[in-house]
Amino acid sequence: MRPPVSAALTAALLMGVTACGSDTSNSDGASGEAGGDTVEVLTSFYPLEFAVSEIGGKRVSASNLVKPGTDPHDLELSPKDVAKVSETDLFVYLKGFAGPIDDAAKNQGSDHAYDVSTSAELDLSAPPEGGDHEGHDHGEEDHDHGPNDPHFWLDPVRYAKVATAIGDRLAKADPDHAAEYRANAKKFGSKLTSLNKDLTTRLANCKRQDLITGHAAFGYLAQRVGMTQVPISGVSPKESPDAKTLTKISTLAKESGATVIYTETLASPRFAEAVARSSGAKTAVLDPLEGITSKSPGSDYFEVMRANIKTLEKGQACS
Ligand SMILES: [Zn+2]
Repeated sequence: MRPPVSAALTAALLMGVTACGSDTSNSDGASGEAGGDTVEVLTSFYPLEFAVSEIGGKRVSASNLVKPGTDPHDLELSPKDVAKVSETDLFVYLKGFAGPIDDAAKNQGSDHAYDVSTSAELDLSAPPEGGDHEGHDHGEEDHDHGPNDPHFWLDPVRYAKVATAIGDRLAKADPDHAAEYRANAKKFGSKLTSLNKDLTTRLANCKRQDLITGHAAFGYLAQRVGMTQVPISGVSPKESPDAKTLTKISTLAKESGATVIYTETLASPRFAEAVARSSGAKTAVLDPLEGITSKSPGSDYFEVMRANIKTLEKGQACS
């Protein structure tokens, strides 16, 4: 957990200068500016924080509203969190992911809340709760998330679009360094393009096309590689499956010859383990990247995605 230090202090620490400004001989050109010039950006959860840090570089001090190891679908904001939203220079969030975040953005974000959902192209609808795949109608009910699947970052192509939009928004917040933000966004985008190439080539030829996952986080990834996601829980891990759904998924797992059922790092593996037990499959971690912890199979987005590709190559029997 990060202690609440001011943006200026964070920037000073990052640059390796002391807060009292004692003379340092290591000023390397542009970074010799006062720490107070950094843009303070608050993000709602990990993939947005990572993109902002990569694109903002030393100009930006990024922090996350969701604490590491917490499921960002299921969060409650303290009055202190809500105050952070109103005080930051820029609040970057994804509308339709978690109700309390949307409320804070609306009530405290005023002109500095930036929703990435339009650039994320969220065109898959959220699967019905409980993992029922027959597509029955379900109205607004009591869930926190919007009607569409929010998990855009697991598709590198959609993530790159959001990165471009974040670069433009940072350029607007700090016009003096606009070119720098746009260049960084472009660089980040090309890393995502190369990741996408790995993802689509390495998973192009797989024996198993049904992707049996913990919660419905992998819809856009499955779509990108031509697989079908069969989520055990809904679009949020707290949308637990009922007994009938579990039986149905176990049957499907047996019939499709699934050898691996995927579990996650932040959510309980209990339902996936039940499906694995009854269908004779094993489990493996497929990380939805909703937060990085010591249990994550890598220390940042790219490392974890490459670990995910490896896991899928093996679990889906790709050649
Ligand atoms: Zn999720």
